[in-house]
Amino acid sequence: MGQWDDLPDRRTSIRGRTAEGDEAWLIRDIARKLYRCPGCHGDISIGDEHVVVQYVRRVGGTDHHHWHRRCVTELLLPELRSLQRASASESGRDRLEARGRRSPRRRR
Ligand SMILES: [Zn+2]
Repeated sequence: MGQWDDLPDRRTSIRGRTAEGDEAWLIRDIARKLYRCPGCHGDISIGDEHVVVQYVRRVGGTDHHHWHRRCVTELLLPELRSLQRASASESGRDRLEARGRRSPRRRR
């Protein structure tokens, strides 16, 4: 652990890659409704600070899930490769969905 402990935060997201070659973007969020965390199947209550995991699929398209921060740190981060910091402004939902509509060869 260490360098990712307090991330993502308001200004900084985390970008990584899954074993399947999909991009995974980890973005801080505040819950505006009740979510179920795919890591532990527990609830994320309205108002809770948590992490949105947005995938940009290698074959195109995106999908996202709401996770507890602790579950991301313990279960998801160790599975991701090529972790790097990204500006939160780069990782807005609209930006990433647009990214999912571009061909993978044109992504940076
Ligand atoms: Zn959880």
